[in-house]
Amino acid sequence: MSADNSSNGSGAIKHTQVLIIGGGPTGLAAALYAARAELKPVLLTGMTLGGQAAITHIIENYPGFPDGLPGPELGELFKNQAERFGAQIVYDTATEVDFSSQPYRVTTYSGEYTADTVIIATGANPRYLGIPGEEKLTGRGVSYCGTCDGFFFKGKDVVVVGGGDSAMEEGAFLTRYADKVTVVHRRDELRASLILQKRAFDDPKIEFIWDTTIKEIEGDEEVKSVQLKNRITGETSTFDTDGVFIFIGHTPNTEMFTDVLELDESGYIVVNKFMETNIPGVYAAGEVADPHFRQVITSAGMGAAAAIQAVRYLQERQDQTA
Ligand code: NAP
Repeated sequence: MSADNSSNGSGAIKHTQVLIIGGGPTGLAAALYAARAELKPVLLTGMTLGGQAAITHIIENYPGFPDGLPGPELGELFKNQAERFGAQIVYDTATEVDFSSQPYRVTTYSGEYTADTVIIATGANPRYLGIPGEEKLTGRGVSYCGTCDGFFFKGKDVVVVGGGDSAMEEGAFLTRYADKVTVVHRRDELRASLILQKRAFDDPKIEFIWDTTIKEIEGDEEVKSVQLKNRITGETSTFDTDGVFIFIGHTPNTEMFTDVLELDESGYIVVNKFMETNIPGVYAAGEVADPHFRQVITSAGMGAAAAIQAVRYLQERQDQTA
């Protein structure tokens, strides 16, 4: 089948040799590698370009940028580099896949694609606490992104939930705006890396409430307070606050692949070291398949590996039919 990579949206089904679902560092790195193999990959960005990296204020641990750089800028650089070699970046979202026969079919908001190989790079979304008041007050004081919403909390007091790297990094960012950041953590020690722990402990604007969970977020039009429960003593108390920032991990974006691909018990796509899923020619990389590393560099590396493998798969198929 010959490759026709023209943009979809016309109603016609378009074919590509490599279709990449997801426009974060994983997908963009895969696009770069597939483009350099002259396969003219099509990448469906999803809702935003750059993935979670794009909502990170400053990325300080991507090699080659000793002074760090804003997340959105890194996404743009990745995109420009992939396009330079012929990748087609399409601002569209995949809604359904059919991997039952070749060529594989992917339906999007605006059309349909067929593809010889598919690289899934749909990433992960923040996890919710699932407590009363959380959903109702999301966007009214409850947030999952300090970088996006910190500005609205100038001179206010906020609570950060979680004890991992995200909580410490975003908590430190929030001190730019908030007068006080109170970290509520369910244990008495943090999970975050030592450098981020030290920064948080040294910051006079950050305070900690240990061994405590939030039972409810209260407020009518906006957040007014949270109900706390000490896990050791069982004691409950009301804590006044203007905002609640929740950083308690992530859920992989694999809804579309339930009953299609092998997933693990947490919903992550199961891949081998070649980024291969249980379906030949379908690869998964980055946070949709990796609950462990979750770094821009590891995600980009997995994206590159998936593309290299897709190139080899296509070459082998071509050799067999030659
Ligand atoms: P994480 O490491 O899984 O930490 C989640 C935190 O939320 C933990 O402290 C956990 O408590 C807490 N938690 C989970 N469920 C909870 C619940 N229902 N109620 C209250 N607390 C709850 O998640 P993350 O911080 O998003 O980081 C994920 C990965 O990304 C990690 O590998 C991290 O290293 C990486 N990351 C790296 C950077 C960086 O290098 N700059 C930045 C962000 C993230 P317990 O500790 O008790 O389990």
